[in-house]
Amino acid sequence: MPLVNTKELFKKAYDGGYAIGAFNCNNMEIVQAITEAAKECNSPVILQVSAGARKYAKACYLRHMVEAAVEDTNLPIVLHLDHGADFEICKDCIDGGFTSVMIDASSKSFEENIAITKKVVEYAHAHKPYVTVEAELGTLAGIEDDVKVEHGNESYTKPEQVEEFVKRTGVDSLAIAIGTSHGAYKFKPEQCTRNEDGVLVPPPLRFDILEEVSKRLPGFPIVLHGSSSVNQEYVKIINAHGGKLVDAVGVPEQQLRKAASMAVCKINIDSDLRLAMTAGIREHMENHPDHFDPRQYVGDGRAYVKELVKHKIVDVLGSNDKL
Ligand SMILES: [Zn+2]
Repeated sequence: MPLVNTKELFKKAYDGGYAIGAFNCNNMEIVQAITEAAKECNSPVILQVSAGARKYAKACYLRHMVEAAVEDTNLPIVLHLDHGADFEICKDCIDGGFTSVMIDASSKSFEENIAITKKVVEYAHAHKPYVTVEAELGTLAGIEDDVKVEHGNESYTKPEQVEEFVKRTGVDSLAIAIGTSHGAYKFKPEQCTRNEDGVLVPPPLRFDILEEVSKRLPGFPIVLHGSSSVNQEYVKIINAHGGKLVDAVGVPEQQLRKAASMAVCKINIDSDLRLAMTAGIREHMENHPDHFDPRQYVGDGRAYVKELVKHKIVDVLGSNDKL
């Protein structure tokens, strides 16, 4: 099976009340962990590549690793550009074999966002085979590679803009801002309450906005960025083995499960993979101070990422057994 775009996957996900995981990949072990987990869960999967990943690993390495994963698993896999900053980057990726791209002009004016998105859509849809395009309305707080928005400067998506945006751009899916945030420190302590263990509890997502958007765009796939949950079991392992992550907090998994049962068809997860990888490596290093073979400690990191992805697919996304 060749790489696929998101069209059919999202249609099935929308109708089936589940979401496809979009996991960021930067190296071979992460690609293997994600796709082996998806294989064991009989789940389609999106592997996405950010500007930072391309800088770190080079687009050609990532593309070939993802193609190797397709060969290895025979799964429907989407190779997606995460946060394409301009038309040129999107064009580059489309020409280079990506099956889906995101153009993120959400920091620009509404009219500029439409103009840039439309240009990417026209190029992507003319490509053979058809490449799907994701755009964004509204902005998320937090830090993700080159995308940085201070807390307080984020803005929720305005539902009254979505119909016009989708109609005028012809875009295939839309990322909206309903209170998720990039990074492992998604919310400032003062935005949160604390539970009995002293762990921060973030403010709930704005499901009213999601509902209003989906009412205006029936059947249309919605995307959530910044949707790691910062599972505290990994934070604890990291901190128990020399790490120091204080007040790292994410979006609760039950809220993401609810979003997946609604119009949300793609949920982006990056920080949780990083935490699992770091937990595996830190634990291994401290337990085996005599080890120096990267296969040993990176292998443990890979095993943790794989377990995490299986958990996400089954308990959060609901995309297991959906081939
Ligand atoms: Zn994002």
